[in-house]
This record gives sequence, structure tokens and C-alpha cells, in this order.
Amino acid sequence: MCATKTQDLVATSRQIALLQEHGADIIRIAIDSKRDVEALAEIRKQTSARLVVDLQESYKLAKSVAPYVQKIRYNPGHLYHHEKDTPVQEKVKYIVSVAREYDLALRIGVNFGSLDPAQAGSDEDPIEVALSSAREHVGYLEELGFTNYVVSLKSSDPNDVVEINTRFADLFAEIPLHVGVTEAGMLPMGEIKTRVAFENLLARGIGDTLRVSLTLPHSEKYQEVVIAKKIIEDVYAGRFRSVPRFEHAGLNIISCPSCSRVENEAFVDLAQKVKAMTQEFSEKKLTIAVMGCRVNGPGETDDADLGLWCAPNHVNLKKGSTLLGQFSYEEIVPKLRAEMSKLVQERGL
Ligand code: SF4
Repeated sequence: MCATKTQDLVATSRQIALLQEHGADIIRIAIDSKRDVEALAEIRKQTSARLVVDLQESYKLAKSVAPYVQKIRYNPGHLYHHEKDTPVQEKVKYIVSVAREYDLALRIGVNFGSLDPAQAGSDEDPIEVALSSAREHVGYLEELGFTNYVVSLKSSDPNDVVEINTRFADLFAEIPLHVGVTEAGMLPMGEIKTRVAFENLLARGIGDTLRVSLTLPHSEKYQEVVIAKKIIEDVYAGRFRSVPRFEHAGLNIISCPSCSRVENEAFVDLAQKVKAMTQEFSEKKLTIAVMGCRVNGPGETDDADLGLWCAPNHVNLKKGSTLLGQFSYEEIVPKLRAEMSKLVQERGL
């Protein structure tokens, strides 16, 4: 996936070329506005790469992006934000009509960080919510007789990714699955989490397309493709490195891979500072989420012990679902450290 600003044509085209050079079969670009669509049209002229666009809230942009891409991803959890009076099923119908007209594939992309609010009760198991959301949308597409689609069910926890994809594959063996651990974070833990999921799923024949999602500087994003290929090769050669489950005994850092939606370019640097600062807590069983924007930031931080999600000029600091405050990019790391120390004391970790 491109992490560059889509409207930065030079940087985005360079990143596409680098991803393609390292073997990416299809490259995702984020589109949120008409200006992003204009940029996409220019990018299309410069590359032969297969492109997929991720619609998020702007489902109506499907029609404008369709001439330039091979696939559209929509997230059931994001079809509620615009035109609240239009039923979700109508929005899906619109996206499907565009996909038919332009002969595009679709991906129903369910993400634990942004689950469908209509499905999610406050205490419900996210696996059940995500499965039910996927089933609902599979139902919509089947009703419309549309078959050119894949489903993805992504969580930042590799054990959840294994469980939900296995359950979905048991229910719908014929529907292709795009697999991935979202917000797997920084290396080396991001690769380990991804391996745990892929080794378990691919060895069972589950997964038709995949993505590795790591927090990396733009110039190194191609490493996602290199690592993905290595894991696939290892699984096919019977070289397994993971244990069947991901039992993180100590600190677990979830961080998003960043994309063009990232609210501030300082995000990757912030994630790395958090990783460095938290070394002293490496033995403590805490989950810290570091997220680049509001798309999955509020949801993913709800489930963490402490979470940061970025706004353009400040960073939101949360303890579970409670907002502790908003701090500048300079203040946030010491604030997080103080809250981690408090939590360690409170819990006697
Ligand atoms: S949280 Fe925001 S910045 Fe991070 S990958 Fe998701 S959409 Fe992109």
C-alpha cells in the first residue's frame, strides 16, 4: 500500500514503482477527495501497476475512481458516516453497479479497528461482530448476483486473525479471502505477528491474496512486499518459524502502517520514539496502540491499555476508551511514559 500523500505525484509514483519492483501484484492507494481522484488519473498515466482504491467513507467516489483501478475496497464500518439516511444496502448496490460497469473486483474489508457501529454492541466479542458484518455484506453481494469479490477480516491480534479467517473459511469455503494482520507495527515484532497468522492460515490453505502491514518510513515500505514473499516461500517449503499461537508475555505495541491519510508526517518518527521509550517496559504485559489518524485510531485505541492517535497538530492520548487529553507531538512521549508508569503501579505489574 502507498503511504505517501496521493496528491504528491512524484512520491506516490516512486513508491508504486518500488513496490512493483519488489513484486507487489496489486497496490492500494487511499482516495478521500476529488483532488485525490485527479491525482489518481495522473498516476494511472505513469504506471501499468494494478491498483486498488480504498474508499473509506466516500462511497460515491467509486464512480470517479473506477476508470483508473482494477479493484475497490470498501469497509462496512465506514458506510455510515455520510448520507446517514441512505440505507447501507443502497450504498453497496451503488458500489456494485460501478464495479459491474467497469468490470472491477471488490473487497469487503472488515477491520476490528473500525467495526460496523450497527453491529457492535458495547460488550460484544469483536470476532462475532466482524463475522456478522462480513456475512451481512456477503448476503448483499449475493442478492445482487455479484461474484467478483474477496473478503478480508483483519485485526491487529494475529490469534484473532487466525480464528476469524478459519471460521469464515469454514462457513464460506468458496469465497476468496484476502488475509493480513492490520497495524502489525514495527520490526521485528510486526513480522513475527504476521508470520504467526500467515503460517497458521496458509498452511491450512486459507488465504488467496495477502498483505503485510508494517510501520516503516516511506522509503522502506517495499519491505512489506519482501517480507510477504519470504513468508510465503517459507510456508511452501515447510519452514515454519512461529509457534501456533502468539502469546505475547510482555509489552505489545500495535502501530498502523500509515498511509496517505496519516494526519501528520511525524507519525512514523513518533511510533519509533514510542518503541524506544517503551523498552524499559518490555517485560510488562501492556498493549499500547499508536495510530496515524481517526480512521482506525479511535477504535484500535479503545482496545489498548493506552493508545495514541494522531490529529494534524496534536496527539490524542487514551486509556482504554477514555480520552486522557490532547498533547503536542513534543509532549506526548513523556506523557505516555508517565501514564505507563502509573498503570504498572496500579496493576502491580
Ligand atoms: S490508521 Fe489512518 S493513517 Fe494509519 S493506516 Fe489506517 S487510515 Fe492510514
